[in-house]
Amino acid sequence: MGAMWVAWAFVLGLVVGSFLNVMIYRLPRGQSVVFPPSHCPDCGKRLTPAELVPVLSYLWQKGRCRQCGARISPRYPLVEALTGLLFAFAAWWLPWPQAVFSWFFLAILIALAFIDAEHEILPDVLTYGGLLLGLVFASFSGAASLAGALGGAALASGLLVLIGGYGALWLRRGRDARGSWPVGFHQVYLAALVGALLGPWWGLLAGVANWVLNWATRRRFELPEPVSLLSLVLVWGSAWMGAGQPFFESVKGALFAAGGVALLGGLYWALVPGTEDDEGDEAVALGFGDVKLAGMLGAWVGFGPFLVGLFFAVVAGALTGAVLGQRRIPFGPFLALGGVLAYFFGQAILNAYLAFIGW
Ligand SMILES: [Zn+2]
Repeated sequence: MGAMWVAWAFVLGLVVGSFLNVMIYRLPRGQSVVFPPSHCPDCGKRLTPAELVPVLSYLWQKGRCRQCGARISPRYPLVEALTGLLFAFAAWWLPWPQAVFSWFFLAILIALAFIDAEHEILPDVLTYGGLLLGLVFASFSGAASLAGALGGAALASGLLVLIGGYGALWLRRGRDARGSWPVGFHQVYLAALVGALLGPWWGLLAGVANWVLNWATRRRFELPEPVSLLSLVLVWGSAWMGAGQPFFESVKGALFAAGGVALLGGLYWALVPGTEDDEGDEAVALGFGDVKLAGMLGAWVGFGPFLVGLFFAVVAGALTGAVLGQRRIPFGPFLALGGVLAYFFGQAILNAYLAFIGW
């Protein structure tokens, strides 16, 4: 692609990055992202057009507000420069329609990464919005791509919800947690178990049926978590030995069904007003926001490349945690980073790896 196109993408990225800064600041605080116009958070001074110029205005003002002298976070020029560079790289690396699609993906991931780093939340409007955009853009390349994106979303979030949920069970030393009504982890686990036994659609149906039953009877019907986990391990174990479904089919069925129920349930919780996340003070290995982010990534990059990205995210997160000496750091920024790598290089890395192990 021409140098002009790449340069133009860079400038566009700087401007989009400046808007992302507004989102990163306001979205977790529940403020409107369009109104009021940008101002200094300390003294309220309206920013002039010159003060809105990405990166340069920060250097010009030596990182301070011109009216009150308050320090401006270096996050502002960082986000702008990062967005500019990623947009330019996408314009250079990808054919043009895909480059334009990728800008949406990259912008949402940058916003999510910085919001999660600071506030430890991944807003639904960004994760589900990004998931929806991934499905929309995939559908431009035909029904097969749309099905692939849906499958990628369900498998990726299924993997994360099972790791996160059963990981939390492990941290609680196997004590069953109180389920959420009408849908929560228990319905996800039922979906996984039935999906492993009978296939993805039966699993999805079982999870949703359990959800509807709870809702209709106003009670909570749930299989205790240790029971569903042991059953799942048994089903997979016997599939590995050759009984029932082939092993990989069984795993796929469980992940797809679990992810489907997790994403639908998460959507329900996002849309039902007056509910907060039910993680409370229970031991949490992974937040549910990470499950939704995984769904978004799976829709955009596909399940195979997602695994590559997840591997990078886990390694980068563990290394950073070790360097910072902290046990608890938000995983979202690493997942977002892994998603960007997976988007550009995931398939190539996967192919190289499969060739290396002789598949
Ligand atoms: Zn000020």
